[in-house]
Amino acid sequence: MQEQMLDEWQASCPYCGSGFTLLIDASQGDHVTYEDCRWCCCPIVVTVSVSLDGELENVRLNRDDDADMDMS
Ligand SMILES: [Zn+2]
Repeated sequence: MQEQMLDEWQASCPYCGSGFTLLIDASQGDHVTYEDCRWCCCPIVVTVSVSLDGELENVRLNRDDDADMDMS
């Protein structure tokens, strides 16, 4: 049992494409965190967007080397 409410978010690694479940703490509001992919161990930049009423709105995963640029 945890006191914090953590939201689960289905994500896929921007490096290797493997799917996994992220646990997001929406009570922190908008934040950026780093998560190491459990499959390829690359650092993933996780950008969390939370609405004003504390609902998890969106989670974006980016490679560490292209920040939030969407160039490919
Ligand atoms: Zn990976």
